[in-house]
Amino acid sequence: MSPTEIIELSAASAAEAIAAGSLDAGELFDAYRARASDDRQAGEQGLNCFTWVAPARPTESQHGPLAGVPLAVKDLFCTEGVPSQSGSRILEGYLPPYTASVVARLAESGAPLLAKTNQDEFAMGSSNENSAYGAVRNPWDRGRVPGGSSGGSAAAVAAGLAPWALGTDTGGSIRQPAALCGIVGLKPTYGAVSRYGMIAFASSLDQAGPLTREVRDAALLLRHMVGRDPCDATSLQFPHEIELPSAERLDGVRIGVPPELTGEGIEAGVLDAFAAALDRARELGASVRDISLAHAPHALSAYYVLAPAEASSNLARFDGVRYGLRAEGAEDLLEMYTRTRHDGFGSEVKRRIMLGTYALSSGYYEAYYGRAQRVRTKIAEDFRQAFEQVDLILTPTAPSVAFMLGEKTGDPLAMYLNDYCTVPMSLAGVPAISIPCGLADGLPVGLQLAGPNFSENRLLDAAHALELAIAFDGAPARV
Ligand code: GLN
Repeated sequence: MSPTEIIELSAASAAEAIAAGSLDAGELFDAYRARASDDRQAGEQGLNCFTWVAPARPTESQHGPLAGVPLAVKDLFCTEGVPSQSGSRILEGYLPPYTASVVARLAESGAPLLAKTNQDEFAMGSSNENSAYGAVRNPWDRGRVPGGSSGGSAAAVAAGLAPWALGTDTGGSIRQPAALCGIVGLKPTYGAVSRYGMIAFASSLDQAGPLTREVRDAALLLRHMVGRDPCDATSLQFPHEIELPSAERLDGVRIGVPPELTGEGIEAGVLDAFAAALDRARELGASVRDISLAHAPHALSAYYVLAPAEASSNLARFDGVRYGLRAEGAEDLLEMYTRTRHDGFGSEVKRRIMLGTYALSSGYYEAYYGRAQRVRTKIAEDFRQAFEQVDLILTPTAPSVAFMLGEKTGDPLAMYLNDYCTVPMSLAGVPAISIPCGLADGLPVGLQLAGPNFSENRLLDAAHALELAIAFDGAPARV
């Protein structure tokens, strides 16, 4: 097979070809390594997807069900001896002494590390413009953002620079960049995947998940990610094996559409593609009805109290003593802390630390944090009630298609609105997947499917049936 033919294979097909002996794992690795290295060397002249690319193919041959299919991993997953910086200057050059459980588990299943991907600093952002290592560009249009915060992972998979990638999703950071880059992104049920070794943003929301070209690839990767980990007390044993999806129909599937997330504020082109996807679902035998997520319009407000509150606490550890950057020339300890954090953190991270510290401060705690927690409970309750009536909830993934670089950097609230449709599922902890459902203005639109806790198999099946029916054929021109 030529390198061009090799990179056209889906990850699952590549694994099958290696297992069948028709493809050499080393050649597969090299084909992607060459493409990823080119992009890395081009820096901001390229897509700028990567912060590190493996210098050579692995010396040992890979065994296990993933058969040597290489994996790109978001920068924030600690990987032993490999820079793991969470997109931040404050962790520049940090080489962890251990590897995140999920990355280690995938390596044991046969997926070697290809590269670390660029991201918004500490996963805060929706456009990948908050990285200390430069913005990532969207392969569909290099003047546009890939979405964030897992923008490097999404752009790399969409551009064929990696067969598949890991991202993390706190309020939408897997699903939204998947939508803006025209690929598949899945946020698992909270607790399904170990967070051990992920550089934390907001611990009660962070989840790792796959970004892939096809739904079947997402299922295959997820199968080897889930499970209880003694190093993460919030991780759970997944109640059953993740199956590779095969459904082609949706007969008997009850779909709910929340008017709260499918109306005001969503671009017309996105709503058109969403309506067309609902038509496909009906043709496949699903029933579609309105359901209410009455508190969903308050999700963003609650999220932007809770996530910064947790972040302000998680980021306290970056003080110039333990990791990475330390400002030189300080007169005393306090000045060293202050100058290190001043130099090391970007402006969005500083904004979140200030918001979170304020919300948690004595006298305001109940008014902000306590109240936001109560809103979160109401949102989770809305989902619980909705899932008594329907099997799945469908919404657009993001309110718009990919926007121009620089378009929203001056307006944090406009940027935060990108997560309008994804944050409710994060607060409720339920799984959700985004698949491409068409184009608007020549750019991909994402369709989000959400289900009850641990309904990943059902979600993947429905996403697979819709993927076949929608037949999104939108690979951007390969670069
Ligand atoms: N865009 C959201 C934020 O900035 C979500 C980020 C994420 O999911 N990591 O917080």
